[in-house]
Amino acid sequence: MQRETLEFDVVFVGAGPANLSGALHLARLVKQYNETIDRNGEPLGDIEIAVIEKGAAVGAHILSGAVMDPRALKELIPDFVEQGAPLESPVKEDFFLYLTENRAIRSPITPPPLKNHGYYIVSLNRLTAWLGDKCEEAGVNIFPEFPGADLLYDENDAVMGVRTGDKGIDKEGKPKANFEPGVDLRAKVTVLGEGPRGSLTKQLVQRLGLDEGSEPQVYSIGVKELWELPDDRYPTGRVTHTLGFPSDSQTYGGGWIYGMQNRVLNIGYVTGLDYKDPLIDPHAEFQRYKTHPYIARLLEGGKMIRYGAKTIAAGGYFAMPRTYADGVLLVGDCAGFLNSQRLKGIHSAIKSGMLAAEVIFEALKKRDYSAQQLQRYERVVNESWIIPELKKVRNFHAGFKHGRWLGMINTGLQFVTGGRSWGLFDRDRAKPGHEEMKKLAEYGYRGDNLEQRYNGLRFDGKTTFNKVTDVYHAAVGHDEDQPAHLHVLDTNICSTRCAEEYGNPCQRFCPAAVYEMVDDGDGGKRRLQINFSNCVHCKTCDIMDPYQIINWVTPEGGGGPDYKGM
Ligand SMILES: Cc1cc2nc3c(=O)[nH]c(=O)nc-3n(C[C@H](O)[C@H](O)[C@H](O)COP(=O)(O)OP(=O)(O)OC[C@H]3O[C@@H](n4cnc5c(N)ncnc54)[C@H](O)[C@@H]3O)c2cc1C
Repeated sequence: MQRETLEFDVVFVGAGPANLSGALHLARLVKQYNETIDRNGEPLGDIEIAVIEKGAAVGAHILSGAVMDPRALKELIPDFVEQGAPLESPVKEDFFLYLTENRAIRSPITPPPLKNHGYYIVSLNRLTAWLGDKCEEAGVNIFPEFPGADLLYDENDAVMGVRTGDKGIDKEGKPKANFEPGVDLRAKVTVLGEGPRGSLTKQLVQRLGLDEGSEPQVYSIGVKELWELPDDRYPTGRVTHTLGFPSDSQTYGGGWIYGMQNRVLNIGYVTGLDYKDPLIDPHAEFQRYKTHPYIARLLEGGKMIRYGAKTIAAGGYFAMPRTYADGVLLVGDCAGFLNSQRLKGIHSAIKSGMLAAEVIFEALKKRDYSAQQLQRYERVVNESWIIPELKKVRNFHAGFKHGRWLGMINTGLQFVTGGRSWGLFDRDRAKPGHEEMKKLAEYGYRGDNLEQRYNGLRFDGKTTFNKVTDVYHAAVGHDEDQPAHLHVLDTNICSTRCAEEYGNPCQRFCPAAVYEMVDDGDGGKRRLQINFSNCVHCKTCDIMDPYQIINWVTPEGGGGPDYKGM
Protein backbone atom coordinates (compact mmCIF):
# COMPACT_ATOMS: atom_id res chain seq x y z
CA MET A 1 0.00 0.00 0.00
CA GLN A 2 1.33 3.42 -0.98
CA ARG A 3 1.24 5.87 1.89
CA GLU A 4 1.90 9.54 1.73
CA THR A 5 4.69 10.80 3.99
CA LEU A 6 4.61 14.30 5.40
CA GLU A 7 7.64 15.80 7.10
CA PHE A 8 7.26 17.94 10.21
CA ASP A 9 9.66 19.07 12.87
CA VAL A 10 7.35 18.33 15.77
CA VAL A 11 4.09 16.39 15.84
CA PHE A 12 1.78 16.62 18.85
CA VAL A 13 -0.67 13.71 19.10
CA GLY A 14 -3.97 14.81 20.69
CA ALA A 15 -5.41 18.32 20.81
CA GLY A 16 -5.93 18.55 24.55
CA PRO A 17 -4.84 21.42 26.81
CA ALA A 18 -1.37 19.87 27.26
CA ASN A 19 -0.45 19.59 23.61
CA LEU A 20 -2.14 22.77 22.43
CA SER A 21 -0.24 24.72 25.08
CA GLY A 22 2.95 22.96 24.03
CA ALA A 23 2.43 23.68 20.34
CA LEU A 24 1.54 27.33 20.98
CA HIS A 25 4.48 27.91 23.31
CA LEU A 26 6.90 26.26 20.88
CA ALA A 27 5.64 28.28 17.91
CA ARG A 28 6.16 31.48 19.91
CA LEU A 29 9.61 30.50 21.17
CA VAL A 30 10.75 29.77 17.62
CA LYS A 31 9.28 33.00 16.27
CA GLN A 32 10.88 35.07 19.00
CA TYR A 33 14.22 33.36 18.46
CA ASN A 34 14.14 33.83 14.70
CA GLU A 35 13.32 37.52 15.16
CA THR A 36 15.86 38.35 17.83
CA ILE A 37 18.86 36.21 16.98
CA ASP A 38 21.95 38.31 16.38
CA ARG A 39 23.56 38.33 12.97
CA ASN A 40 26.15 35.71 13.88
CA GLY A 41 23.58 33.28 15.19
CA GLU A 42 21.81 30.82 13.03
CA PRO A 43 18.03 31.21 12.97
CA LEU A 44 15.96 28.07 13.23
CA GLY A 45 13.97 29.09 10.17
CA ASP A 46 10.55 27.60 9.54
CA ILE A 47 9.76 24.97 12.11
CA GLU A 48 6.76 22.94 11.05
CA ILE A 49 4.54 22.02 13.98
CA ALA A 50 1.49 19.79 13.64
CA VAL A 51 -1.22 18.78 16.10
CA ILE A 52 -3.38 15.80 15.20
CA GLU A 53 -6.72 15.06 16.86
CA LYS A 54 -9.00 12.04 16.46
CA GLY A 55 -12.18 14.07 17.10
CA ALA A 56 -14.11 15.87 14.37
CA ALA A 57 -12.94 19.22 15.77
CA VAL A 58 -10.62 20.49 18.46
CA GLY A 59 -12.49 19.99 21.75
CA ALA A 60 -14.99 17.43 20.41
CA HIS A 61 -13.57 14.69 22.65
CA ILE A 62 -12.69 16.90 25.59
CA LEU A 63 -14.64 16.26 28.76
CA SER A 64 -13.66 17.53 32.17
CA GLY A 65 -15.30 19.03 35.31
CA ALA A 66 -14.05 21.68 35.34
CA VAL A 67 -12.75 24.03 37.94
CA MET A 68 -9.47 25.33 36.57
CA ASP A 69 -6.53 26.51 38.63
CA PRO A 70 -5.39 29.33 36.30
CA ARG A 71 -1.74 29.20 37.37
CA ALA A 72 -0.41 27.68 34.15
CA LEU A 73 -2.74 29.45 31.76
CA LYS A 74 -1.49 32.73 33.28
CA GLU A 75 2.05 31.67 32.41
CA LEU A 76 1.05 30.80 28.85
CA ILE A 77 -1.26 33.75 28.16
CA PRO A 78 -0.92 36.26 31.02
CA ASP A 79 -3.90 38.33 29.82
CA PHE A 80 -6.15 35.34 29.08
CA VAL A 81 -9.18 37.11 30.58
CA GLU A 82 -8.71 40.22 28.43
CA GLN A 83 -8.06 38.03 25.39
CA GLY A 84 -11.51 36.51 25.80
CA ALA A 85 -10.74 33.02 27.12
CA PRO A 86 -14.12 31.31 27.42
CA LEU A 87 -14.54 31.21 31.21
CA GLU A 88 -17.92 30.37 32.68
CA SER A 89 -17.35 32.18 35.95
CA PRO A 90 -14.83 32.83 38.68
CA VAL A 91 -15.56 30.49 41.59
CA LYS A 92 -17.70 32.54 43.97
CA GLU A 93 -18.43 30.03 46.75
CA ASP A 94 -17.40 26.51 47.77
CA PHE A 95 -19.74 24.00 49.40
CA PHE A 96 -18.68 20.65 50.74
CA LEU A 97 -21.51 18.26 51.56
CA TYR A 98 -21.61 14.85 53.14
CA LEU A 99 -24.58 12.92 51.79
CA THR A 100 -26.33 10.22 53.82
CA GLU A 101 -29.24 8.38 52.11
CA ASN A 102 -31.62 11.22 52.88
CA ARG A 103 -29.66 14.15 54.21
CA ALA A 104 -27.08 16.59 52.93
CA ILE A 105 -24.83 17.80 55.73
CA ARG A 106 -22.81 20.90 54.90
CA SER A 107 -19.36 20.94 56.38
CA PRO A 108 -18.72 24.20 58.27
CA ILE A 109 -15.26 24.27 56.75
CA THR A 110 -14.25 23.43 53.19
CA PRO A 111 -11.34 20.97 53.19
CA PRO A 112 -8.29 22.85 51.81
CA PRO A 113 -7.94 20.72 48.64
CA LEU A 114 -11.50 21.62 47.71
CA LYS A 115 -11.08 25.37 48.20
CA ASN A 116 -11.31 26.99 44.81
CA HIS A 117 -10.99 30.68 45.55
CA GLY A 118 -9.24 32.42 42.62
CA TYR A 119 -10.09 29.59 40.22
CA TYR A 120 -12.56 29.50 37.32
CA ILE A 121 -15.39 27.25 36.29
CA VAL A 122 -14.80 26.42 32.63
CA SER A 123 -16.10 24.24 29.86
CA LEU A 124 -12.83 22.56 28.90
CA ASN A 125 -14.34 21.77 25.51
CA ARG A 126 -14.66 25.51 24.83
CA LEU A 127 -11.35 26.45 26.38
CA THR A 128 -9.57 23.86 24.27
CA ALA A 129 -11.25 25.07 21.07
CA TRP A 130 -10.07 28.59 21.97
CA LEU A 131 -6.50 27.36 22.51
CA GLY A 132 -6.76 25.63 19.12
CA ASP A 133 -7.58 28.99 17.49
CA LYS A 134 -4.59 30.58 19.24
CA CYS A 135 -2.37 27.82 17.86
CA GLU A 136 -3.60 28.35 14.33
CA GLU A 137 -3.01 32.10 14.64
CA ALA A 138 0.57 31.25 15.65
CA GLY A 139 1.09 29.11 12.56
CA VAL A 140 0.56 25.64 14.02
CA ASN A 141 -1.04 23.11 11.63
CA ILE A 142 -4.02 21.45 13.26
CA PHE A 143 -5.48 18.28 11.75
CA PRO A 144 -8.79 17.16 13.25
CA GLU A 145 -10.13 13.74 12.18
CA PHE A 146 -6.55 12.41 12.25
CA PRO A 147 -6.23 9.60 14.78
CA GLY A 148 -2.69 8.53 15.61
CA ALA A 149 -2.95 4.78 14.97
CA ASP A 150 0.69 3.66 15.28
CA LEU A 151 4.01 5.12 16.22
CA LEU A 152 6.81 4.97 13.66
CA TYR A 153 10.13 3.65 15.00
CA ASP A 154 13.59 3.35 13.50
CA GLU A 155 15.70 0.20 13.88
CA ASN A 156 16.88 1.38 17.33
CA ASP A 157 13.36 1.97 18.64
CA ALA A 158 13.66 5.75 18.37
CA VAL A 159 10.27 7.29 17.61
CA MET A 160 10.25 8.82 14.14
CA GLY A 161 6.66 10.09 13.99
CA VAL A 162 3.16 8.71 13.81
CA ARG A 163 1.00 6.87 11.30
CA THR A 164 -2.59 8.07 11.14
CA GLY A 165 -5.53 5.68 10.78
CA ASP A 166 -6.84 4.50 7.43
CA LYS A 167 -10.19 5.84 6.26
CA GLY A 168 -12.88 4.00 4.31
CA ILE A 169 -12.42 0.38 5.47
CA ASP A 170 -15.64 -1.63 5.74
CA LYS A 171 -16.61 -3.80 8.67
CA GLU A 172 -15.09 -6.87 7.00
CA GLY A 173 -11.78 -5.02 6.73
CA LYS A 174 -12.02 -4.38 2.97
CA PRO A 175 -11.41 -0.99 1.34
CA LYS A 176 -14.53 0.96 0.31
CA ALA A 177 -14.86 3.42 -2.59
CA ASN A 178 -13.74 6.28 -0.32
CA PHE A 179 -10.66 4.41 0.96
CA GLU A 180 -7.73 6.62 1.95
CA PRO A 181 -4.67 5.07 3.56
CA GLY A 182 -3.35 6.75 6.69
CA VAL A 183 -0.45 9.13 6.33
CA ASP A 184 3.03 8.81 7.84
CA LEU A 185 3.76 12.03 9.70
CA ARG A 186 7.49 12.01 10.29
CA ALA A 187 8.85 14.23 13.03
CA LYS A 188 12.06 14.95 14.88
CA VAL A 189 10.09 14.89 18.12
CA THR A 190 6.65 13.36 18.69
CA VAL A 191 4.74 14.52 21.75
CA LEU A 192 2.03 12.26 23.15
CA GLY A 193 -0.75 14.21 24.85
CA GLU A 194 -3.49 11.63 24.44
CA GLY A 195 -5.04 12.06 27.89
CA PRO A 196 -5.69 9.13 30.23
CA ARG A 197 -4.87 5.62 28.90
CA GLY A 198 -3.64 6.87 25.54
CA SER A 199 -3.65 4.09 22.97
CA LEU A 200 -0.23 5.02 21.53
CA THR A 201 1.13 5.79 24.98
CA LYS A 202 0.13 2.30 26.10
CA GLN A 203 2.02 0.76 23.15
CA LEU A 204 5.08 2.92 23.75
CA VAL A 205 5.23 2.32 27.49
CA GLN A 206 5.02 -1.45 26.97
CA ARG A 207 7.52 -1.53 24.12
CA LEU A 208 10.18 0.57 25.84
CA GLY A 209 9.36 -0.48 29.42
CA LEU A 210 8.82 3.15 30.42
CA ASP A 211 6.87 2.07 33.50
CA GLU A 212 9.73 0.09 34.98
CA GLY A 213 10.02 1.01 38.63
CA SER A 214 6.67 2.84 38.76
CA GLU A 215 3.48 1.55 40.27
CA PRO A 216 0.68 0.63 37.89
CA GLN A 217 -1.48 3.60 36.98
CA VAL A 218 -4.90 3.61 38.68
CA TYR A 219 -7.91 5.33 37.22
CA SER A 220 -11.33 6.71 38.08
CA ILE A 221 -14.22 7.41 35.76
CA GLY A 222 -16.28 10.60 35.77
CA VAL A 223 -19.82 10.46 34.41
CA LYS A 224 -21.40 13.81 33.78
CA GLU A 225 -24.53 15.62 32.55
CA LEU A 226 -25.38 19.24 31.83
CA TRP A 227 -28.84 20.40 32.84
CA GLU A 228 -30.85 23.49 31.94
CA LEU A 229 -32.58 24.73 35.08
CA PRO A 230 -35.89 26.61 34.98
CA ASP A 231 -34.75 29.33 37.41
CA ASP A 232 -31.78 30.73 39.35
CA ARG A 233 -31.93 28.15 42.14
CA TYR A 234 -28.21 27.33 41.74
CA PRO A 235 -26.02 30.42 41.28
CA THR A 236 -23.40 30.72 38.57
CA GLY A 237 -19.99 30.38 40.20
CA ARG A 238 -21.03 28.06 43.04
CA VAL A 239 -18.94 24.91 43.39
CA THR A 240 -20.24 21.97 45.41
CA HIS A 241 -18.34 18.76 46.09
CA THR A 242 -20.01 15.83 47.82
CA LEU A 243 -18.88 12.69 49.56
CA GLY A 244 -20.95 9.75 50.74
CA PHE A 245 -24.12 8.61 48.98
CA PRO A 246 -24.34 6.60 46.78
CA SER A 247 -20.83 5.07 47.07
CA ASP A 248 -20.43 2.33 49.63
CA SER A 249 -17.67 3.02 52.12
CA GLN A 250 -15.25 0.64 50.34
CA THR A 251 -15.58 2.34 46.95
CA TYR A 252 -13.75 5.54 46.09
CA GLY A 253 -16.21 8.10 44.80
CA GLY A 254 -17.63 11.60 45.03
CA GLY A 255 -19.81 14.09 43.22
CA TRP A 256 -19.62 17.62 41.89
CA ILE A 257 -22.15 20.31 41.06
CA TYR A 258 -20.98 23.50 39.34
CA GLY A 259 -23.10 26.51 38.39
CA MET A 260 -22.38 27.59 34.81
CA GLN A 261 -23.79 30.55 32.88
CA ASN A 262 -27.39 30.75 31.62
CA ARG A 263 -28.80 28.48 34.36
CA VAL A 264 -26.82 25.49 33.17
CA LEU A 265 -26.00 23.06 35.95
CA ASN A 266 -22.94 20.89 35.53
CA ILE A 267 -23.27 17.72 37.60
CA GLY A 268 -21.21 14.57 37.72
CA TYR A 269 -19.97 11.64 39.73
CA VAL A 270 -16.56 10.00 39.98
CA THR A 271 -16.13 6.28 40.75
CA GLY A 272 -12.71 4.77 41.39
CA LEU A 273 -11.81 2.10 38.85
CA ASP A 274 -10.34 0.00 41.60
CA TYR A 275 -13.66 -1.07 43.05
CA LYS A 276 -14.17 -4.49 44.54
CA ASP A 277 -17.87 -5.10 43.91
CA PRO A 278 -18.17 -6.66 40.43
CA LEU A 279 -21.72 -5.33 40.07
CA ILE A 280 -20.69 -1.69 40.24
CA ASP A 281 -21.89 0.33 37.31
CA PRO A 282 -20.46 3.91 37.34
CA HIS A 283 -23.33 5.19 35.19
CA ALA A 284 -25.85 3.69 37.63
CA GLU A 285 -23.91 5.19 40.56
CA PHE A 286 -24.38 8.61 38.96
CA GLN A 287 -28.08 7.98 38.29
CA ARG A 288 -28.54 7.00 41.94
CA TYR A 289 -26.67 10.14 42.97
CA LYS A 290 -29.37 12.20 41.25
CA THR A 291 -32.12 10.46 43.23
CA HIS A 292 -30.76 11.86 46.51
CA PRO A 293 -33.45 14.26 47.83
CA TYR A 294 -31.02 17.21 47.84
CA ILE A 295 -29.92 16.63 44.24
CA ALA A 296 -33.37 15.62 42.96
CA ARG A 297 -34.74 18.92 44.28
CA LEU A 298 -32.02 20.83 42.44
CA LEU A 299 -32.89 19.10 39.16
CA GLU A 300 -36.68 19.24 39.48
CA GLY A 301 -38.28 20.84 36.42
CA GLY A 302 -34.89 20.99 34.66
CA LYS A 303 -33.88 19.35 31.42
CA MET A 304 -30.83 17.18 30.79
CA ILE A 305 -29.08 18.49 27.69
CA ARG A 306 -25.67 16.80 27.45
CA TYR A 307 -24.00 13.62 28.68
CA GLY A 308 -20.47 12.26 28.70
CA ALA A 309 -17.96 10.08 30.52
CA LYS A 310 -14.21 9.93 30.68
CA THR A 311 -11.49 8.33 32.76
CA ILE A 312 -9.06 10.13 35.04
CA ALA A 313 -5.49 8.98 35.68
CA ALA A 314 -5.45 9.09 39.48
CA GLY A 315 -2.25 7.25 40.46
CA GLY A 316 -0.16 10.41 40.77
CA TYR A 317 3.50 10.62 41.69
CA PHE A 318 4.27 6.91 42.15
CA ALA A 319 2.50 5.85 38.96
CA MET A 320 4.21 8.19 36.52
CA PRO A 321 6.05 6.43 33.69
CA ARG A 322 9.36 7.70 32.32
CA THR A 323 8.23 10.68 30.27
CA TYR A 324 10.91 10.75 27.56
CA ALA A 325 12.65 8.40 25.14
CA ASP A 326 14.44 8.85 21.81
CA GLY A 327 12.29 11.22 19.74
CA VAL A 328 9.30 11.28 22.07
CA LEU A 329 7.88 13.04 25.14
CA LEU A 330 4.75 12.43 27.24
CA VAL A 331 2.69 15.35 28.54
CA GLY A 332 -0.47 15.93 30.59
CA ASP A 333 -2.64 13.06 31.75
CA CYS A 334 -0.87 10.42 29.73
CA ALA A 335 2.23 11.24 31.76
CA GLY A 336 0.16 10.99 34.97
CA PHE A 337 0.48 14.63 36.10
CA LEU A 338 -3.06 14.96 37.49
CA ASN A 339 -3.47 15.80 41.18
CA SER A 340 -6.21 13.36 42.19
CA GLN A 341 -6.74 14.84 45.64
CA ARG A 342 -7.83 18.13 44.07
CA LEU A 343 -9.21 16.43 40.91
CA LYS A 344 -7.21 18.93 38.94
CA GLY A 345 -5.07 18.25 35.93
CA ILE A 346 -5.70 21.11 33.51
CA HIS A 347 -3.06 23.34 35.09
CA SER A 348 -0.37 20.63 35.10
CA ALA A 349 -1.34 19.55 31.57
CA ILE A 350 -0.77 23.12 30.33
CA LYS A 351 2.45 23.51 32.29
CA SER A 352 3.86 20.16 31.11
CA GLY A 353 3.09 21.10 27.50
CA MET A 354 4.98 24.36 27.98
CA LEU A 355 7.97 22.60 29.56
CA ALA A 356 8.01 20.07 26.72
CA ALA A 357 8.05 22.98 24.26
CA GLU A 358 11.06 24.55 26.01
CA VAL A 359 12.96 21.26 25.93
CA ILE A 360 12.12 20.67 22.26
CA PHE A 361 13.21 24.22 21.45
CA GLU A 362 16.64 23.49 22.93
CA ALA A 363 16.75 20.15 21.09
CA LEU A 364 15.95 21.89 17.79
CA LYS A 365 18.79 24.36 18.35
CA LYS A 366 21.20 21.51 19.07
CA ARG A 367 19.70 19.24 16.39
CA ASP A 368 19.71 16.47 18.94
CA TYR A 369 16.49 14.52 19.54
CA SER A 370 17.97 11.65 21.49
CA ALA A 371 16.71 10.46 24.86
CA GLN A 372 19.86 11.91 26.38
CA GLN A 373 18.91 15.39 25.18
CA LEU A 374 15.18 15.01 25.86
CA GLN A 375 15.88 13.73 29.37
CA ARG A 376 16.07 17.40 30.27
CA TYR A 377 12.26 17.32 30.24
CA GLU A 378 12.21 15.09 33.32
CA ARG A 379 14.55 17.49 35.07
CA VAL A 380 12.56 20.63 34.29
CA VAL A 381 9.30 18.93 35.29
CA ASN A 382 10.94 17.94 38.59
CA GLU A 383 12.15 21.49 39.13
CA SER A 384 8.78 23.06 38.27
CA TRP A 385 5.79 23.23 40.62
CA ILE A 386 4.24 20.09 39.07
CA ILE A 387 6.24 17.53 41.03
CA PRO A 388 6.25 19.26 44.44
CA GLU A 389 2.45 19.52 44.11
CA LEU A 390 2.13 15.82 43.29
CA LYS A 391 4.59 14.77 45.99
CA LYS A 392 2.48 16.38 48.70
CA VAL A 393 -0.46 14.13 47.78
CA ARG A 394 1.52 11.07 46.75
CA ASN A 395 -0.24 8.70 49.16
CA PHE A 396 -3.72 10.18 48.77
CA HIS A 397 -5.31 7.57 46.54
CA ALA A 398 -3.57 4.63 48.21
CA GLY A 399 -5.09 5.76 51.55
CA PHE A 400 -8.54 4.80 50.27
CA LYS A 401 -7.63 1.16 49.88
CA HIS A 402 -8.92 0.68 53.42
CA GLY A 403 -12.18 2.46 52.68
CA ARG A 404 -13.54 5.97 52.87
CA TRP A 405 -13.00 6.81 56.54
CA LEU A 406 -9.40 5.72 56.80
CA GLY A 407 -8.78 7.36 53.43
CA MET A 408 -10.04 10.65 54.83
CA ILE A 409 -7.98 10.35 57.98
CA ASN A 410 -4.94 9.68 55.82
CA THR A 411 -5.76 12.75 53.70
CA GLY A 412 -5.91 14.87 56.85
CA LEU A 413 -2.62 13.48 58.16
CA GLN A 414 -0.88 14.20 54.90
CA PHE A 415 -1.38 17.92 55.41
CA VAL A 416 0.71 17.67 58.53
CA THR A 417 3.31 15.26 57.16
CA GLY A 418 3.68 16.86 53.73
CA GLY A 419 2.48 13.69 52.02
CA ARG A 420 4.34 11.10 54.06
CA SER A 421 2.43 7.99 55.13
CA TRP A 422 3.30 5.07 57.36
CA GLY A 423 2.10 1.56 58.10
CA LEU A 424 -1.59 1.12 57.38
CA PHE A 425 -1.68 4.10 55.07
CA ASP A 426 1.52 3.40 53.27
CA ARG A 427 1.36 2.80 49.58
CA ASP A 428 1.39 -0.80 48.57
CA ARG A 429 -0.67 -0.19 45.54
CA ALA A 430 1.24 -2.64 43.45
CA LYS A 431 -1.95 -3.83 41.79
CA PRO A 432 -3.68 -2.27 38.81
CA GLY A 433 -7.33 -1.40 39.54
CA HIS A 434 -8.93 -4.26 37.60
CA GLU A 435 -7.20 -6.75 39.90
CA GLU A 436 -9.10 -5.31 42.86
CA MET A 437 -12.42 -6.47 41.39
CA LYS A 438 -13.68 -9.57 43.18
CA LYS A 439 -15.48 -12.46 41.57
CA LEU A 440 -19.26 -12.59 42.12
CA ALA A 441 -19.07 -15.54 44.50
CA GLU A 442 -16.15 -14.01 46.44
CA TYR A 443 -18.25 -10.90 46.93
CA GLY A 444 -21.16 -12.99 48.14
CA TYR A 445 -23.39 -12.60 45.08
CA ARG A 446 -25.44 -15.28 43.46
CA GLY A 447 -25.77 -14.66 39.72
CA ASP A 448 -25.34 -11.27 38.09
CA ASN A 449 -28.71 -9.74 38.81
CA LEU A 450 -28.06 -5.98 38.98
CA GLU A 451 -30.91 -5.54 41.42
CA GLN A 452 -28.61 -6.91 44.08
CA ARG A 453 -26.73 -3.61 44.04
CA TYR A 454 -29.07 -1.11 42.44
CA ASN A 455 -32.24 -2.25 44.10
CA GLY A 456 -35.03 0.17 43.31
CA LEU A 457 -33.10 2.30 40.79
CA ARG A 458 -35.46 3.15 37.93
CA PHE A 459 -34.72 5.22 34.85
CA ASP A 460 -37.70 7.57 34.81
CA GLY A 461 -36.59 9.62 31.81
CA LYS A 462 -36.92 12.80 33.89
CA THR A 463 -34.16 12.72 36.48
CA THR A 464 -32.58 9.37 35.72
CA PHE A 465 -31.76 7.99 32.28
CA ASN A 466 -30.68 4.69 30.89
CA LYS A 467 -27.37 4.48 29.06
CA VAL A 468 -28.85 4.58 25.58
CA THR A 469 -30.74 7.82 26.31
CA ASP A 470 -27.66 9.33 27.87
CA VAL A 471 -25.45 8.29 24.94
CA TYR A 472 -27.84 10.06 22.59
CA HIS A 473 -27.01 13.24 24.55
CA ALA A 474 -23.29 12.69 23.95
CA ALA A 475 -23.98 13.17 20.22
CA VAL A 476 -21.83 10.15 19.44
CA GLY A 477 -21.31 9.23 15.82
CA HIS A 478 -19.21 6.49 14.21
CA ASP A 479 -19.60 5.18 10.67
CA GLU A 480 -21.07 1.73 11.39
CA ASP A 481 -19.46 0.20 8.31
CA GLN A 482 -15.95 0.01 9.76
CA PRO A 483 -14.17 -2.62 11.84
CA ALA A 484 -14.95 -2.38 15.57
CA HIS A 485 -12.25 -0.36 17.28
CA LEU A 486 -12.71 -2.38 20.47
CA HIS A 487 -10.64 -5.47 20.00
CA VAL A 488 -11.68 -8.31 22.25
CA LEU A 489 -8.82 -10.72 21.95
CA ASP A 490 -10.72 -13.86 23.00
CA THR A 491 -14.52 -13.70 22.99
CA ASN A 492 -14.75 -17.31 24.26
CA ILE A 493 -13.74 -16.02 27.67
CA CYS A 494 -16.78 -13.70 27.62
CA SER A 495 -19.27 -16.57 27.20
CA THR A 496 -17.56 -18.88 29.64
CA ARG A 497 -15.17 -17.79 32.38
CA CYS A 498 -16.14 -14.15 32.53
CA ALA A 499 -19.89 -14.91 32.55
CA GLU A 500 -19.44 -17.30 35.45
CA GLU A 501 -16.80 -15.48 37.43
CA TYR A 502 -17.74 -11.82 37.06
CA GLY A 503 -21.12 -11.81 35.26
CA ASN A 504 -19.62 -9.93 32.29
CA PRO A 505 -18.81 -6.64 34.06
CA CYS A 506 -18.13 -4.90 30.73
CA GLN A 507 -21.90 -4.49 30.46
CA ARG A 508 -21.74 -2.43 33.65
CA PHE A 509 -18.45 -0.56 33.67
CA CYS A 510 -18.96 0.76 30.14
CA PRO A 511 -20.99 3.98 30.53
CA ALA A 512 -22.23 3.87 26.94
CA ALA A 513 -23.92 0.46 26.49
CA VAL A 514 -21.22 -0.72 24.09
CA TYR A 515 -21.01 -4.25 25.49
CA GLU A 516 -24.02 -6.52 25.52
CA MET A 517 -24.34 -10.24 26.11
CA VAL A 518 -27.01 -11.54 23.74
CA ASP A 519 -28.58 -14.93 23.08
CA ASP A 520 -26.97 -16.49 20.08
CA GLY A 521 -30.29 -18.01 19.05
CA ASP A 522 -29.57 -21.70 19.57
CA GLY A 523 -30.39 -21.67 23.25
CA GLY A 524 -26.73 -22.12 24.11
CA LYS A 525 -24.36 -19.72 25.84
CA ARG A 526 -24.79 -15.99 25.45
CA ARG A 527 -22.30 -14.22 23.21
CA LEU A 528 -20.75 -10.77 23.30
CA GLN A 529 -22.15 -8.10 20.98
CA ILE A 530 -20.09 -4.92 20.66
CA ASN A 531 -22.15 -1.82 19.87
CA PHE A 532 -18.99 0.10 19.07
CA SER A 533 -20.81 3.03 17.51
CA ASN A 534 -21.97 4.04 21.03
CA CYS A 535 -18.40 4.40 22.28
CA VAL A 536 -17.63 7.72 24.01
CA HIS A 537 -13.84 7.05 24.01
CA CYS A 538 -13.62 7.00 27.82
CA LYS A 539 -11.24 3.95 27.77
CA THR A 540 -12.85 2.33 30.84
CA CYS A 541 -13.09 -1.06 29.10
CA ASP A 542 -9.38 -1.09 28.26
CA ILE A 543 -8.64 -0.36 31.92
CA MET A 544 -11.19 -2.37 33.88
CA ASP A 545 -11.62 -5.63 31.99
CA PRO A 546 -10.62 -8.31 34.54
CA TYR A 547 -8.83 -10.46 31.94
CA GLN A 548 -7.24 -7.50 30.11
CA ILE A 549 -8.45 -8.80 26.76
CA ILE A 550 -10.06 -5.57 25.57
CA ASN A 551 -7.78 -3.37 23.54
CA TRP A 552 -9.13 0.08 22.67
CA VAL A 553 -7.69 1.38 19.39
CA THR A 554 -8.58 4.52 17.51
CA PRO A 555 -11.59 4.27 15.18
CA GLU A 556 -11.84 6.10 11.87
CA GLY A 557 -11.07 9.81 12.32
CA GLY A 558 -13.92 12.11 13.27
CA GLY A 559 -15.96 9.38 14.99
CA GLY A 560 -16.85 9.59 18.67
CA PRO A 561 -18.68 12.02 20.93
CA ASP A 562 -19.25 15.70 20.39
CA TYR A 563 -18.82 17.25 23.80
CA LYS A 564 -20.04 20.78 23.08
CA GLY A 565 -20.03 22.87 26.24
CA MET A 566 -18.75 19.97 28.43
C1 LIG B 1 -14.78 13.87 34.76
C2 LIG B 1 -13.54 14.69 34.86
C3 LIG B 1 -13.52 15.80 35.67
C4 LIG B 1 -12.36 16.57 35.76
N1 LIG B 1 -12.39 17.71 36.50
C5 LIG B 1 -11.32 18.52 36.50
C6 LIG B 1 -11.37 19.79 37.16
O1 LIG B 1 -12.39 20.18 37.72
N2 LIG B 1 -10.24 20.55 37.13
C7 LIG B 1 -9.10 20.16 36.50
O2 LIG B 1 -8.11 20.90 36.50
N3 LIG B 1 -9.04 18.96 35.88
C8 LIG B 1 -10.11 18.15 35.86
N4 LIG B 1 -10.06 16.97 35.18
C9 LIG B 1 -8.78 16.55 34.56
C10 LIG B 1 -8.51 17.30 33.27
O3 LIG B 1 -9.63 17.27 32.42
C11 LIG B 1 -7.30 16.66 32.60
O4 LIG B 1 -6.24 16.65 33.52
C12 LIG B 1 -6.87 17.38 31.34
O5 LIG B 1 -7.92 17.47 30.43
C13 LIG B 1 -5.68 16.66 30.73
O6 LIG B 1 -5.33 17.27 29.52
P1 LIG B 1 -4.54 16.47 28.40
O7 LIG B 1 -4.25 17.45 27.33
O8 LIG B 1 -3.44 15.71 29.00
O9 LIG B 1 -5.56 15.36 27.85
P2 LIG B 1 -7.05 15.42 27.36
O10 LIG B 1 -7.76 16.60 27.87
O11 LIG B 1 -7.62 14.09 27.67
O12 LIG B 1 -6.93 15.56 25.77
C14 LIG B 1 -6.42 14.53 24.98
C15 LIG B 1 -6.85 14.76 23.52
O13 LIG B 1 -6.12 13.85 22.72
C16 LIG B 1 -6.98 13.23 21.77
N5 LIG B 1 -6.39 11.93 21.44
C17 LIG B 1 -6.20 10.88 22.28
N6 LIG B 1 -5.58 9.87 21.64
C18 LIG B 1 -5.39 10.28 20.36
C19 LIG B 1 -4.79 9.67 19.24
N7 LIG B 1 -4.23 8.46 19.29
N8 LIG B 1 -4.78 10.37 18.06
C20 LIG B 1 -5.31 11.61 18.00
N9 LIG B 1 -5.89 12.24 19.05
C21 LIG B 1 -5.91 11.58 20.22
C22 LIG B 1 -8.30 13.15 22.52
O14 LIG B 1 -9.37 13.00 21.60
C23 LIG B 1 -8.32 14.48 23.26
O15 LIG B 1 -8.86 15.49 22.45
C24 LIG B 1 -11.20 16.19 35.06
C25 LIG B 1 -11.22 15.07 34.23
C26 LIG B 1 -12.39 14.33 34.12
C27 LIG B 1 -12.42 13.16 33.19
